[in-house]
Amino acid sequence: MVDYIVVGLGLAGISFCEQLEKNGKTFRVVTDDSQTSSLVAGGLYNPVILKRFTLAWQAEKQLKIAKTFYTDLEQKLGIKLDYTLPVYRRFHSVEEQNQWFVASDKKGLDVFLNTKIQPNTNESIDAPFGYGEVMHTGRIDTKKLVSSYEKHLQEKGLLLNESFKFSDLQLGDNGVDYGSIFAQRIIFAEGFGLKNNPYFNYLPLQGSKGEYIFIKAPKLKEERAIKSSVFIIPEGDDVYRVGANYERHDKSNEPTESVREGLLNKLKAVVKCDFKVVGQVAGVRPTVIDRKPMVGRHPKYQQMYVLNGFGSRGVLVGPSVSWQLYTYIENDEPLDSDIDSARFTQKFFR
Ligand SMILES: Cc1cc2nc3c(=O)[nH]c(=O)nc-3n(C[C@H](O)[C@H](O)[C@H](O)COP(=O)(O)OP(=O)(O)OC[C@H]3O[C@@H](n4cnc5c(N)ncnc54)[C@H](O)[C@@H]3O)c2cc1C
Repeated sequence: MVDYIVVGLGLAGISFCEQLEKNGKTFRVVTDDSQTSSLVAGGLYNPVILKRFTLAWQAEKQLKIAKTFYTDLEQKLGIKLDYTLPVYRRFHSVEEQNQWFVASDKKGLDVFLNTKIQPNTNESIDAPFGYGEVMHTGRIDTKKLVSSYEKHLQEKGLLLNESFKFSDLQLGDNGVDYGSIFAQRIIFAEGFGLKNNPYFNYLPLQGSKGEYIFIKAPKLKEERAIKSSVFIIPEGDDVYRVGANYERHDKSNEPTESVREGLLNKLKAVVKCDFKVVGQVAGVRPTVIDRKPMVGRHPKYQQMYVLNGFGSRGVLVGPSVSWQLYTYIENDEPLDSDIDSARFTQKFFR
């Protein structure tokens, strides 16, 4: 008998397991490799929406919680996860420079937007209008995080590497039975896999596929993350991650030729040195209609919870939202109505 079963070990599952471990709760995790979002993510944490120069939802608060969360994880797992990385937004025009100035004066944004226009000093990049620098940004190595966390759970005997079999789930008054495990509660953190969950598939998860290509460009010599029509993110050893796109119709995890071509065209408009493509990855972001997480208790089954909707900012959102779910369950603290899955219950649940 354990306190919890957690289904899914991406950013959502990991951040919830961390709440459980910190609070001495017992649990088992069931996960498979049907979804790849946390494995292929760029891992950037950046509180600013770079299209409109506005702050992302609750970003300042989330950043504070996330920084401590990943530092604690680095110490616990004995690995480096958090790489400080300036994000440079390439300007397309003088108008954009002016919009940046206006935005950098606003309360909240002033902490993150450097007012000084950064001139381009890299001959391999075309950026005649220079850049705006976003401060306090960085990158979490999410692939390393997932594999190290899996290993951590495996060593403790807490991990079942299998697809969750809904036919093996039995609901009782005081908990759930799954095979030989009895748990008081079950948390579904399946990313886009939620679509196959018969208990929660009424929730309006949209899903947005994204792909990155990896290039090797020895002459590029860029150490910052550059945002133009695509992100160019340095990964070390002259390798850069380039992307990602947003695709609504294809919900597979397979990289495609057409996206690769599209990303290359965008890249060539900015990068002027030689490079070759050395890899490509794809995954489906768990996005929601209103772009907010979807968290809470099942409307009918009190022992079931959902932790989903991390969309395109899972690195920032994960730690604070998981903590909210934990305190909601254990301490009866109310969920922020913005993220409560109950906001969809009336409309979609029959
Ligand atoms: C191309 C791309 C780029 C991105 N870049 C960034 C970025 O720079 N910064 C950022 O913050 N976010 C980024 N994201 C978003 C981020 O990846 C997501 O927000 C986050 O990974 C979602 O985590 P999750 O745990 O909810 O889902 P997932 O990572 O999909 O994890 C769910 C897990 O549950 C498992 N699972 C599902 N169904 C079952 C089942 N029935 N049985 C057992 N296991 C199951 C899956 O296999 C998977 O392991 C990006 C995403 C993509 C695709």
